[in-house]
Amino acid sequence: MPTKSAPPPDAKSDQKAFLVAAKRILSAGKTRLTWDVLAAILGVEPRAMKTYRMPAASSDYRTMPKLLVEKIEALVAEAQAPSPAGAAAPPRDPYVDWKPRSDPLKLLPASLAALVIRQARQVFMGGGATMVSGVDRLWSGVSGLGDEDRKAMALVSRARLTLGLSDVGAEIHQLLAQCTKPLGEWLPLPAVKEAGLNAVCLIDAEDYMPTLEAEELSEGFGGMTGLLEEQVFAAFQDSLSKHSAKDANDYYTAVRTFVVRNPVATRKQLLKFLAALPSAVWACIEQQFYEPLPGALVAGETATLCGHCNNVMTAQPGGLRCMTAACAAEHAATPGRTLPAADLLRLNRSLRKYWLEPGIDEIRLADRLAARGHTVRMYPNRDMVDLDLGEGSPVGIDLKAYSSPELLGERLRRRPGGLKNYKTQLLVIPDWMARRVPHYVERVSACLEGSSIRALTLSDTVEVLGHA
Ligand SMILES: [Zn+2]
Repeated sequence: MPTKSAPPPDAKSDQKAFLVAAKRILSAGKTRLTWDVLAAILGVEPRAMKTYRMPAASSDYRTMPKLLVEKIEALVAEAQAPSPAGAAAPPRDPYVDWKPRSDPLKLLPASLAALVIRQARQVFMGGGATMVSGVDRLWSGVSGLGDEDRKAMALVSRARLTLGLSDVGAEIHQLLAQCTKPLGEWLPLPAVKEAGLNAVCLIDAEDYMPTLEAEELSEGFGGMTGLLEEQVFAAFQDSLSKHSAKDANDYYTAVRTFVVRNPVATRKQLLKFLAALPSAVWACIEQQFYEPLPGALVAGETATLCGHCNNVMTAQPGGLRCMTAACAAEHAATPGRTLPAADLLRLNRSLRKYWLEPGIDEIRLADRLAARGHTVRMYPNRDMVDLDLGEGSPVGIDLKAYSSPELLGERLRRRPGGLKNYKTQLLVIPDWMARRVPHYVERVSACLEGSSIRALTLSDTVEVLGHA
């Protein structure tokens, strides 16, 4: 066994002995230096520290990154250095460097999400920038990096290095490409897992937009929550504001329901629907909500729509696939009508994300409740909740498909929104999401403890509410 003054064993030949000796030297004169405190001093996750001091033969054993070995060697050398004569330098106390309340890795997910949102704002709102698909050049418009961006990137680099993984934080495009993958895959930090973020992607791999989870995480992080949405919907709200509250509510519900049921519509169908609306509302929807079908989605002169949700289907190696994620998650591909592509309009990107995707399950629930005799109101009082069971009904329902039950539970506990206007407050999880994420309802319920909101799957909600 090495003594206090002996140099520690070589990290390469025996990593465990190296760490044990380093810990003893660094604890000299201190009451007790635990492995967790040592990990904090070194900026390493305690769990990673554990893998470093496993026997080399163990399957959990991990080799320490070179950077970390150097850091330990430097600390040991400093602790062993004789004090300069007469200087009476106080012995270095590793505890001084340890600030348990400010573990920056805990802030990493939010700070990274905020970076994604800021970059998206540059690309989508900066003007002139175009998106280029592909992994290494995800967003070609990304250019300026601010202080906050660099801090987030450095934090990713540090986290990956302490985990013994390659550095992907140094180059913005490489980092953004990682952000299309679930956090648990490329940032397997305890802080990520404990916050329930392992399955969360910050950028949607299909449309290269920040996910709703990224916006939620960046909330309160100087983010731009809802900015894209605000721009698109400001004109719509403005057009409604010229009418009485009751009319405005009715128009809102009619428009949003139409949009969710018709992600792709023929010009004739759209004009027929719009004819019943006041001209300002009509103009807003015609000019801002729908756009011509992009050529890339069209096979020849025609396009095939999904038999379930009416969105356009895209050709895949295995056949046609519906482009609505919430639809494809629940149903096998079911081709419906095939129509001349030139006649078709589709919803713009923001509406697809904020209204269509969540709306698929909202409509699914509404239709099943209506079939059981309930009076269902969609988006009452301009979206106070997703649906309720008629004027004066005690039941208010919000439906959410976050991939992280913890993120969702925390969010609703902080901001229950319109649900607080109801006696019976139901949070509904789509069946496909509850199947995909283990123990979803239990996990979200645990986060909602003490709140009046009750979480249920969509099918359980239909059972619980029964027949009218
Ligand atoms: Zn579909």
